[in-house]
Amino acid sequence: MSSSVALRLPSIDGLLRHPACLPLAERYGREALLSGLRQLLDELRLSVLQGQLSAIEISPEVLAGRVGERLAQQQRSNVRRVFNLTGTVLHTNLGRALLPDEAIDAVQMAARYPLNLEFDLASGKRGDRDDLIEGLIRELTGAEAVTVVNNNAAAVLLTLNSLGARKEGIISRGELIEIGGAFRIPDIMARAGVRLHEVGTTNRTHARDYEAAISPRSGLIMRVHASNYSIEGFTARVPTAELAELAHRHGLPLLEDLGSGSLLDLTRWGLPAEPTVRQALLDGADIVTFSGDKLLGGPQAGLIVGRKDLIAKIKKNPLKRALRVDKLTLAALEAVLGLYRDPDRLAERLPSLHLLTRPQADILAQASRLQPAMAEVLGEPWQVSAVQALGMIGSGSQPVARLPSAALCLRPQVSKRLRGRCLLNLEAALRNLPIPVLGRIDDDALWLDLRQLDDEPTWLAQLPQLQVES
Ligand SMILES: *Cc1c(COP(=O)(O)O)cnc(C)c1O
Repeated sequence: MSSSVALRLPSIDGLLRHPACLPLAERYGREALLSGLRQLLDELRLSVLQGQLSAIEISPEVLAGRVGERLAQQQRSNVRRVFNLTGTVLHTNLGRALLPDEAIDAVQMAARYPLNLEFDLASGKRGDRDDLIEGLIRELTGAEAVTVVNNNAAAVLLTLNSLGARKEGIISRGELIEIGGAFRIPDIMARAGVRLHEVGTTNRTHARDYEAAISPRSGLIMRVHASNYSIEGFTARVPTAELAELAHRHGLPLLEDLGSGSLLDLTRWGLPAEPTVRQALLDGADIVTFSGDKLLGGPQAGLIVGRKDLIAKIKKNPLKRALRVDKLTLAALEAVLGLYRDPDRLAERLPSLHLLTRPQADILAQASRLQPAMAEVLGEPWQVSAVQALGMIGSGSQPVARLPSAALCLRPQVSKRLRGRCLLNLEAALRNLPIPVLGRIDDDALWLDLRQLDDEPTWLAQLPQLQVES
């Protein structure tokens, strides 16, 4: 039998009035504190009865401390900033493009005040939200008209359903892709009510393949940017201009899903060539769809641009109402598009382009600068070096192209058997920092690609808190 004197937990009322708890009530509210205390006392009751806890462990001060930790944990936002040091700039899982200040200001304005979202200030009549960006889009792409939806997947779905429902959509077998996140062209076509008519082969599709597929059941021809994979070697693809001519000869519209859809020729900044929206339209595509938050560098959105009569048809589809964008997105999008009017300064002002064009020498110098601090924090068992590395654009743009970059390469100096565990422990420790640091594990090392580390002081300041399990 236990000889200890049975302790008693403090009462809830007593705790609520205790000076140690008062600041908690002030900070988190009485309701939250009450439920936190109740929960904690319930959990401790049995241990107290069994004499497993000391008087100190159930003192009001200690209990207040424990409840305070829980309340702080609960109050912490689930949406958290991270350092993206993965080397992939437009990382879908990490929120893709970062907005420029101009767009952030526009979002703030739109969030704070009423605005002319669907109101024409010139006539005083009801307006259309697409009108807010139509002028800019026409100027930047040469398109006759535009409509905007929630993302490019929605743009593709809406366009297919509006122009091809109950008819056949002709597409090359080399373009029946999966983008990731369960977005597969054949499935989207089916959901859009378009019957898939695939032509050609995976690596080679010719004009005659398309031609042979055309019948009175045909509704449209579709072309999809291969995005996240590349077909190399013995390949053949019909140029857009030729495909458009063929489609028009048979009275069919040509849709082109560009995916990333750059508005400007990126080779101007030394980046790999991506087809531009303007060129696709010039080549004769009737409708072009692309994302707002990939190479464009704006908010998540899907842009549908092209022929006025077809856009009008798309806008009449009831699905448009279900897929439309909100005011915050439109505000940000207009601001980002506005920056494109001055291409000379775009790389300075648009964060995604700024990051994509950051010179390797600059990143390498940063890696050398940070190497000592990292080496000191990790200590003996790790070799820390500032090295050249290869990054990626991400989001399906140029999957095989690599961006010359630089990284801190963290290599465990332990036997091969222990290396994997060591790397995973470090990866977890970096992820557990107040602002999680995300790198990538490759070739028995953890790489922190510094292309996107623009807030060096904050990154350095939290480094001493790193706790790697051994
Ligand atoms: C990324 C991509 C999509 C999907 O775009 P979201 O904006 O992510 O919805 C569709 N088609 C292609 C070719 C893509 O690259």
